[in-house]
Amino acid sequence: MVITLLKIKLLSVILNFVYLFNYGGFNMKATVDQERCFGCEFCASTCPEIFEIKELKPDIEKSFAKDCEIPNELIDLAFDIESNCPAAAIIIEN
Ligand code: SF4
Repeated sequence: MVITLLKIKLLSVILNFVYLFNYGGFNMKATVDQERCFGCEFCASTCPEIFEIKELKPDIEKSFAKDCEIPNELIDLAFDIESNCPAAAIIIEN
């Protein structure tokens, strides 16, 4: 029984390490390539905590990533949005 609990604890430590290694810890940020973004609003409507739409000129809107670290609970959503941006304009990195 004790050995099983130790194995579970060890597995938990390993998974946390893999998570931190893959996601670079707790200071991930998003950026939006303004050349690619065409302002479809998908990112900002899906996750307004990270992305916002700004009107640069009449009829020209672009998405901007807010200048903040991505909260840990939103990292998976941020990567989903990055993968589904139709212009491949979003970069998530630390
Ligand atoms: S989803 Fe992509 S193309 Fe659409 S507004 Fe966001 S960054 Fe721009």
